[in-house]
Amino acid sequence: MIRIAIAGAAGRMGRVLIEAVAQHPETRLGAALERPGAAALGTDAGVLAGLEPAGVRVAGDIGEVVDEFDVLIDFTAPPATIAHARVCADHGKAMVIGTTGFDAAQSAELDALAAHIPRCQASNFSTGVNLCFRLLELAAQVIGSESDIEIHEAHHRHKVDAPSGTALSMGEVVAAALGRDLRQVAVHGRQGQTGARSREEIGFSSVRGGDIVGDHTVMFAADGERIEITHKASSRMAFARGAVRAAVWLHGRAPGAYDMRDVLALRS
Ligand code: NAD
Repeated sequence: MIRIAIAGAAGRMGRVLIEAVAQHPETRLGAALERPGAAALGTDAGVLAGLEPAGVRVAGDIGEVVDEFDVLIDFTAPPATIAHARVCADHGKAMVIGTTGFDAAQSAELDALAAHIPRCQASNFSTGVNLCFRLLELAAQVIGSESDIEIHEAHHRHKVDAPSGTALSMGEVVAAALGRDLRQVAVHGRQGQTGARSREEIGFSSVRGGDIVGDHTVMFAADGERIEITHKASSRMAFARGAVRAAVWLHGRAPGAYDMRDVLALRS
């Protein structure tokens, strides 16, 4: 059995991840982590997730539990993920990273740490979204240069970053297929006298509200026709199962930076 640690155990994703680890035939929960001072510290992680007791108490310091797991699954916040990645790199522990919203310096540090350990990082761990990445690549190659491309996403009221990491990944896939640099062509949230759009720009818009788990649409609007590729997540279990599948795939692999397209063999 592969021993999994869940960081952010009391969070929206953390609780579902504990359940997904319990359901997978090749994994068991080895450790659970929360931020120092969190109300969940000391609680049984299974009970926290609404399951039978797992015999694993939620810990507040990764150093206390580093010998208890083989792969850490981290869905927390950028500073916490970076701190965990440093410890995992020191101890040769594989890491699945679902946290989004890293700045350029944080992303560079994570990439440097991936030289020491196998790491799978993805802005979205669902199978459907990763399939959409392939469909988007094809759509961009066939109709992208004659279309105006707009990316629209919607998430629950608690989400703290915008646009979503998944929307940015979709933009990167489309931009790469068209030979564009997303940093040069991305236009976020238009307002006021914006002037006409250019053909090259890729527009992003975000909605926040209620309990929306995650909707993404990429529109290719050409003259006379329009293609929309849409993914709708209805349960966080779609991300959690993907993250556990990634952890199993990662276990025993050579150090390096992988993503969900490697896990699902979806690279073109
Ligand atoms: P959340 O706020 O419900 O949960 C985050 C948890 O992390 C909280 O319980 C918090 O206390 C805990 N935490 C913070 N600092 C910590 C530390 N130092 N050590 C241990 N735990 C710590 O948020 P969420 O909705 O579960 O999302 C978490 C992250 O995952 C966000 O960045 C979100 O964008 C991302 N996310 C990614 C995917 C994906 O498929 N890649 C899917 C959903 C969410």
